[in-house]
Amino acid sequence: MSAVSPLAVPPDALFGVGNLPYGVFSTAADPRRRLGVAYGDHVLDAGAAARATGAPGGLAGLLGAPSLNPLLAAGRPTWRRARAALTEWLTAEQHRAAVEPCLVPLADTTSHLPFEVADYVDFYASEHHAANLGRIFRPGAEPLTPNWKHLPIGYHGRAGTIVVSGTPVVRPCGQRKAPGDPAPVHGPSGRLDIEAEVGFVVGTPSPLGSRVALTDADDHVFGVCLVNDWSARDLQAWEYVPLGPFLGKSFATSVSPWVVPLDALAYARTQPPARDTAPLPYLDDRAARPPYGLDITLEVRLDGHLIARPPFAAMYWTYAQMLAHLTVNGASLRTGDLYASGTVSGPAPDSRGALIELTWNGEQPLALPDGTRRTFLEDGDEVVISATAPGPDGTRIGLGAVAGRIEPAR
Ligand code: CA
Repeated sequence: MSAVSPLAVPPDALFGVGNLPYGVFSTAADPRRRLGVAYGDHVLDAGAAARATGAPGGLAGLLGAPSLNPLLAAGRPTWRRARAALTEWLTAEQHRAAVEPCLVPLADTTSHLPFEVADYVDFYASEHHAANLGRIFRPGAEPLTPNWKHLPIGYHGRAGTIVVSGTPVVRPCGQRKAPGDPAPVHGPSGRLDIEAEVGFVVGTPSPLGSRVALTDADDHVFGVCLVNDWSARDLQAWEYVPLGPFLGKSFATSVSPWVVPLDALAYARTQPPARDTAPLPYLDDRAARPPYGLDITLEVRLDGHLIARPPFAAMYWTYAQMLAHLTVNGASLRTGDLYASGTVSGPAPDSRGALIELTWNGEQPLALPDGTRRTFLEDGDEVVISATAPGPDGTRIGLGAVAGRIEPAR
């Protein structure tokens, strides 16, 4: 037998030993949902590996669950123990014979939602995105609202319509009314858009009436995924004043199938951009060591064509500030809470994470290689958002893509 071992993963693999993201998978041969860890071109059946290596019962129970939630709830010391165990199983020669049979080719797997989503919050943390939308919708006025540099703005979204990558997205219907129209009409959205975002998955809950300090954020945040906050701009424009986004966004929100542990992003820590407005003390992270910014580079592809490379390092508000603000009124956290960053947009025109910015509200259509043009999404369009970040020893880690194709309205 000269077959290459699935444990022989090259150092430049995006799912290398420095990453080890968790997901939930099944196969045609075994339709049970189970916890997996992406490794090279394979998925490690985590529960099977725990049993095969004789892991302690507690750890085997968490990794043998059909969802990430039990591990999420177990807390950071257990997250570290699980990561150390997985690293050993995948790299130590003594485990090779036991672990190899637990690896399934990635191509043979079906991904499921990796965790049961509790509450979902979406922020608006990119200054470039917020300023661009301000210029588009309030020309002549200050691009940012007066509160923007004092607090991370967000809204509560719909947890029940969060779907895993690959789930088709049906074009939503709803009310819309352009400024010149005499009355609203009901029908399919004509301005369906994307928002390329980074999502943060909460593991450890917090009690009602308490706050999570900036410095405690890493005790609660388990890891990171990619999010596409599909947005019907015409529905949104007519409904969002005065209470914010509602049906223009709640029809579907896609997440990547892999949750990258925060520990895998230790080499991606970076200083957030300089703030020109002093934050209130509970949001003041200017002396934080290590910093809470993350150097994650997103790539957005429309029908296979790269249309943007949004830099998460350019985000004004960090994940720790978002969490501190989310809980500053005493709101509790639940295991499985997901909070997303808001559209990631950088300063350059090709670093904007939404079509509304990339086409400047449809005024500047994108030219695709097949000769067609896009302002907003057409039926049949597929959007894939992927991302990488620095890993150990000059390597890069991948976040796993979030994909979705638009189906016609029903
Ligand atoms: Ca959003």
